[in-house]
Amino acid sequence: MSTRACGNCTLCCKVMAIEQLEKPVGRWCPHCNPGRGCLVYAERPGECQSFSCMWLVNELLDERWKPNRSKLVLTTSDDGIEVRCDPGFPDAWRKEPFGSEIRQWAISGDAHDVTVVVIVGQKMILIASEREFDLGIVRPDERIVRELEGTRVIGASVVKANEIRD
Ligand code: SF4
Ligand code: SF4
Repeated sequence: MSTRACGNCTLCCKVMAIEQLEKPVGRWCPHCNPGRGCLVYAERPGECQSFSCMWLVNELLDERWKPNRSKLVLTTSDDGIEVRCDPGFPDAWRKEPFGSEIRQWAISGDAHDVTVVVIVGQKMILIASEREFDLGIVRPDERIVRELEGTRVIGASVVKANEIRD
């Protein structure tokens, strides 16, 4: 189990959407004192109470990945790994060692049907083993559909969630 603490990091309070507060992605929560903490910590929404980024719980991600240092907040989803960039640093994920590591995850992900998505504000980029797919703005009611050839991702598109058939 990780012994890490958020310390001077508050980046999830900017990059994540908080439904209970109607806080959009990419904007500081009005209750955040950036770099210091939550001004309503005892009464913060349940979404905030239950949230932990991957860096906080996975010590395989070294100190360089600390979100306020890397400008990246990593989370997992049902489909795979989501890498959220601080919109003030939209290319942070391309810097090293992050870019190479993210590509390695994509190579492994293609083989195991795990997706790796970079998110900058509302924009998403699907990272596959052989190339990246810039999907533009993906809204909450939309989903990414991959076109596969074997385990290789050869295409990707965005569709309404209610148009997807099982
Ligand atoms: S991004 Fe991670 S380390 Fe930073 S405040 Fe949020 S949970 Fe803590
Ligand atoms: S309520 Fe507090 S913990 Fe939740 S997003 Fe706002 S500042 Fe962060």
